[in-house]
Amino acid sequence: MRARPIVVGSGLAGLVAALELAARGGCVLVTAGRLTEGAASAWAQGGIAAALAPDDSPAQHAHDTWLAGARAGDREVIARITDLAPGVVARLARDGVPFDRDASGAYDLALEGGHSRHRVAHAGDRSGAVITATLAALVEGHPDIELLEGRRVDDLLLDESGVVRGIRCGATTLESDRVILATGGLGGLFPHTTNPVTATGAGVALAARAGARTDDLHLVQFHPTALDVGSRPAPLLTEALRGAGAVLRSDGERFVDELQPRDVVAAAVWAQLQQGRTVHLDARRVDDAERRFPAVTTLLAGHGLTLHDLLPVRPAAHYSMGGVTVDAQARTGVPGLWAVGEVSRTGLHGANRLASNSLLEAVVTGRSAAASVGAHSATDAWRADVPPADPGLVRPREQAPAIATEQVRAELGRSCGVLREAGALRDTIRQLEPATGQDDAYLAWLLARSALAHPRSVGAHRRTDTTEAVPA
Ligand SMILES: Cc1cc2nc3c(=O)[nH]c(=O)nc-3n(C[C@H](O)[C@H](O)[C@H](O)COP(=O)(O)OP(=O)(O)OC[C@H]3O[C@@H](n4cnc5c(N)ncnc54)[C@H](O)[C@@H]3O)c2cc1C
Repeated sequence: MRARPIVVGSGLAGLVAALELAARGGCVLVTAGRLTEGAASAWAQGGIAAALAPDDSPAQHAHDTWLAGARAGDREVIARITDLAPGVVARLARDGVPFDRDASGAYDLALEGGHSRHRVAHAGDRSGAVITATLAALVEGHPDIELLEGRRVDDLLLDESGVVRGIRCGATTLESDRVILATGGLGGLFPHTTNPVTATGAGVALAARAGARTDDLHLVQFHPTALDVGSRPAPLLTEALRGAGAVLRSDGERFVDELQPRDVVAAAVWAQLQQGRTVHLDARRVDDAERRFPAVTTLLAGHGLTLHDLLPVRPAAHYSMGGVTVDAQARTGVPGLWAVGEVSRTGLHGANRLASNSLLEAVVTGRSAAASVGAHSATDAWRADVPPADPGLVRPREQAPAIATEQVRAELGRSCGVLREAGALRDTIRQLEPATGQDDAYLAWLLARSALAHPRSVGAHRRTDTTEAVPA
């Protein structure tokens, strides 16, 4: 009998894929920690974007997405996903997600940066936690989902013709000719990140070793004002503080218009730090700040700080626009392998993600993959609409780790941050080259190679050695 498909990872994308597959004959859900542990999905505060307001439309949502992505997104993909968005929110609500509503029962839609309309459906300021908990409750104990917790997938098993045959977790293997990767992002590989520290892009490394194509790995979104108190991950200081009048100071002096887009502010802060200065967020003149920002107040108290202090900040890796290249059915170039959520590169985000579009992408890709897996018979030819991978980027796994993870992180921080230049990128590639047998070094090497191969200042980062900039 054909083995059930395997879903790897239990963030929003993995939960959705597993639930959809449960309705199509069942699946095995394998995840590194406990269910939803280590999932960035559970940390999302904003919510999920969808054109639900009377003055909004999917076409307007698509336009905003394309503009935020520096006009680099795939317009067909953007149109498809934004069209599906209102139905995604309605379905989550039917599944039991208690989205906030107004007195008339309509969704209470928040306005976020880059959106031209109120468009973000949310459950308080803990949307991700509420959505993942709702779906996790449906997964737990589901008769058609075999849940394997505490299993970190180390490898994909392939047959001699490169077709997926299963997964390996430590000493155990699990066979299946259909695997969906839902392993999340790679921010945890950077020295400063807002992601779970376990989000080191393992899925990208596994897929790339198996011969999958990756794209846009150099496109990393940095949050400009993470609290810099040495903790990993770094807590976020919400942009709303700047909106309410908090200013940025470098060694005491203001240096940037704080209300400019995220990437502009992040580049300005990064430049100050590179000059050896200390950057603080100064919210001391924000009226009634403690009452208006109770979550920030609590967060700061955990670090012995208050809104009356100067708050040390720095940019931190927040979201990965690139990943394993997939088509509209979330198929990768490797027969039998699908990728969903942040580990995938769909083309939705272009060079910069529009806020609250990633939970949306996680749901849409999770569903597309499940439908495609369900329709894929054991004898079907693999017809993914994905260009081939560069064979020069496919590296074998080797046992002996040649480099410490801290060193990998330091290399990424040095050359692949907000401001980049070719010399440092080449140096990083040289340093990491001998260690590509090890997943974290392999992924950082792929990222630095991608950055070197794309010398334009586009989206979230700036090249300091080329003049070719793309207008925001
Ligand atoms: C602080 C913060 C706030 C955010 N706010 C928002 C927001 O408001 N709206 C929005 O749309 N997006 C937001 N995002 C982004 C969004 O949360 C993520 O892009 C999205 O949740 C990714 O979902 P995912 O299912 O792909 O991955 P994740 O939710 O990260 O889940 C990955 C899963 O894979 C597992 N895993 C990883 N590697 C392995 C392995 N080798 N073997 C087995 N299991 C593995 C992990 O344990 C985890 O269960 C935010 C991100 C952060 C960090």
